[in-house]
Amino acid sequence: MTLDFALSPELEALAAEAREVGREWADRCAIREDSWIAGHDAEVAKDLAARGWLGMTWPVESGGGGRSAMERFVVFEGLISAGAPIAAAWFADRQIGPTLLEFGTPDQQARFLPGILSGEAMWGIGMSEPDAGSDVAAIRTRAVLDGEEYIVDGQKIWTSGAAHADFVYLVARTDPDAPPHKGLSELVVDLGSPGVKVVPIVDMTGDDHFCEVYFDSVRVPVTNLVGELNGSFKQIMRQMEHERGGIDRLVSNRRLYEDVMAGADLSDPVLRQEAAALEIDYRLGRLLVLREVLGQAPRGFSAATKTFCTEHEQRVADFCGRALGPAALVADTELHARAARNITYAPGYTIMGGTTSILRNILGERVLGLPR
Ligand SMILES: Cc1cc2nc3c(=O)[nH]c(=O)nc-3n(C[C@H](O)[C@H](O)[C@H](O)COP(=O)(O)OP(=O)(O)OC[C@H]3O[C@@H](n4cnc5c(N)ncnc54)[C@H](O)[C@@H]3O)c2cc1C
Repeated sequence: MTLDFALSPELEALAAEAREVGREWADRCAIREDSWIAGHDAEVAKDLAARGWLGMTWPVESGGGGRSAMERFVVFEGLISAGAPIAAAWFADRQIGPTLLEFGTPDQQARFLPGILSGEAMWGIGMSEPDAGSDVAAIRTRAVLDGEEYIVDGQKIWTSGAAHADFVYLVARTDPDAPPHKGLSELVVDLGSPGVKVVPIVDMTGDDHFCEVYFDSVRVPVTNLVGELNGSFKQIMRQMEHERGGIDRLVSNRRLYEDVMAGADLSDPVLRQEAAALEIDYRLGRLLVLREVLGQAPRGFSAATKTFCTEHEQRVADFCGRALGPAALVADTELHARAARNITYAPGYTIMGGTTSILRNILGERVLGLPR
C-alpha cells in the first residue's frame, strides 16, 4: 500500500490561488522574507478579510469561516512562501483569536473578534521583558486591581508590530506573593490608553518591526482579563502551541530560496548536494507542520517542529549566501540585498517564539520525560 500525499483538486486550486495572490501582494514590497512578521501592509490585512482568509477555521457562530485546517494551511503556505506582507493580520489570526475563542468571555469575543476578522485591528504579543525572555516566570510588569480597573506598570520588549498595533495581549504579574509562575494573568491592553509608550528597536538588518513598550499607570478595565486570574501559565503553554507549530516557521525565506535557485550554478557538486539536502529537509519540515495542523502531533511536540523548521530556515539563508558568493554581501542588486538581509536576520529564527535551547529542554523534560 502506498501513502497518497496529493491534495484534492479543490485544495490544489485554493493553494494555486493563494500563491498567485501572494505574489501580487509581495510585488508591493521590496523585501519578501519574513513577511508574516516584518511585512506590514494594512490594505493586505483587509484584502485577506475580504477573501475570507482570516479566522478561516473558527466556528461560523463566532464569525469564522468554519473551514478545514488543511484549507487554512494551503492558503498561508501559498501566501508566506510567496512573501506576501501579512504581518498586520497574522498574530491575531494565528494566536490571539484562537486564544480568545478558548479562554475569552462571550463579551470579549464580541468586542475583539470582529476587528480581527475584518483585518482592521492589529495585535501585538506582550510577553518578553528585558529580564524575562526564556524565563516567563520572571515577568515583573505588574497589574494591580483598583476598583473595576487594573493599573499596569512595567516594560515589555521585542513586541513585534507594536508601533502599528491597536492592542497588546499582555502577560502581567497580578499576585506578587504567589510562586513566580502562579501569579501571572493575561490582559488585553488598548495601546491608545494614556500611559503607554511604544519605542521601535532597529535590528541588525536596519528594520524596526519590534519595539519596547512602556506602561506607566495604564488603566485597563477588569473586563479585559482573559481566562483565569493568576492562571496565565497554562494559557501561555496553549498559546505557544499555536505559535510554534505552523507553516510560518518553515517558509519565512522560501521565496528567497526559489529566487536564488532560479540562477544557481547547480553544476557545482557541493551546491547541488546542499540543495538536495535542503529539499529533503523542506519536505520533512512540511510533514511535521502538517502533523501539528491536523492535530496528530504528540502534546508539546511543536517544540521539535519549530526547532527543525527554523534550523532549516537558517540553512536556507546560509545556502543562499554560498550560492550567490561574495556578491550576496555587496547588496548591489535587489536579490543580493535580500540575501544579505536574510543572512543577518536568520539568527532570530531560532530565538523568537522560544529559543532552540529552551525548546530542547521542553522536549527532553515534557515530551521524552527525561530526568531534569
Ligand atoms: C524577531 C523577534 C521577534 C520577537 N517578537 C516577540 C513578540 O512579538 N513578543 C514577545 O513577547 N517576544 C518577542 N520576541 C522575544 C523572544 O521571545 C525572546 O527573545 C526569546 O524568548 C528569548 O528570550 P531573551 O531574548 O530574553 O533571551 P534569554 O532568555 O536571556 O536567553 C539568552 C540565551 O540563554 C539561553 N538560555 C536561557 N535560559 C536557558 C535554560 N534554562 N537552558 C538552556 N539555555 C537557556 C537561551 O537559549 C539563549 O541562547 C521576539 C524575538 C525576536 C528575535
